[in-house]
Amino acid sequence: MEQGKPVWTIVKILEWTKQYFADKGVETPRLDAEVLLCDVLKCQRINLYVNFDQPLEEDELHIYRSYVAKRAKHEPLAYILGHRAFMHSEFKVTEDTLVPRPETELLVEQIVELNKDKGPLDILDIGCGSGAIVVSLLQLLPLSRAVAVDINAKAVAVTLENAASLGVAERCNGLVSDLFENVAKGKKFDVVVSNPPYIPTAVLSSLAADVQKEPRTALDGGVTGLDFYQRILKNINAFLEPEGMVAFEIGIGQGEQVAKMCREQGLAITAVRNDYANIDRMVFATKEGSKYANEILAIRQK
Ligand code: GLN
Repeated sequence: MEQGKPVWTIVKILEWTKQYFADKGVETPRLDAEVLLCDVLKCQRINLYVNFDQPLEEDELHIYRSYVAKRAKHEPLAYILGHRAFMHSEFKVTEDTLVPRPETELLVEQIVELNKDKGPLDILDIGCGSGAIVVSLLQLLPLSRAVAVDINAKAVAVTLENAASLGVAERCNGLVSDLFENVAKGKKFDVVVSNPPYIPTAVLSSLAADVQKEPRTALDGGVTGLDFYQRILKNINAFLEPEGMVAFEIGIGQGEQVAKMCREQGLAITAVRNDYANIDRMVFATKEGSKYANEILAIRQK
């Protein structure tokens, strides 16, 4: 080490970065500094504390600084690291895919609950992004098969990579498609799931800086935020088994409107479920008398 050059130990660099991130308005400055440093040093967070006085090597500093610069510009952690934990797995994510959210885990859990004793199933995921939903469903419902569609070919590629690395590739077909456009006519699914873009266009510019780095095509739901539910539901009966079910992620205040759109297509049994923050976050729908009807009614009555 040259004379006069500061020695950046783990403790010093974490303190410095925490302050820098805080000044830049990063929401969890210390945690993000630690997570990024762990990625550089390929260690667990506990090791940072055990080795507080360890100096960083030049090449480690170099990589870390590039991460810090990105995070200070509000690039989401998941894009910098290239992965995000969802359910029980690490998913590759890229700038072409929305970062999987914890609320979406509730959607997956509820779909699994509704399907765990329903035997072999055909699932369609519309707007698959990273594949967090469809790959998790295939992992948790081992008899199921899925078609995963996205309008963005790069997102479909990420889904297929995740399907392969998480061991479900042989049960997952990827398709570049604007909603149902390229899905084989006559093909019917037991479960149609979608976490479509649902943010009203006028609200996009007021979203957190981090969210604004995510693909606009994965967020922008048109003037009311409801465009994609409308478009999906318009064609739903051509692609849904008569006894099938629909599961949507939705945004704040959209529950009743999306449930009503479902009922207008003959999916008379609907349920809205809230997330941990008590915001309406999911809609489930099926036809009267279907194999899902009672269980979906039970969600409504919870
Ligand atoms: N949950 C995301 C957000 O609130 C939006 C995802 C979506 O539009 N599907 O930022």
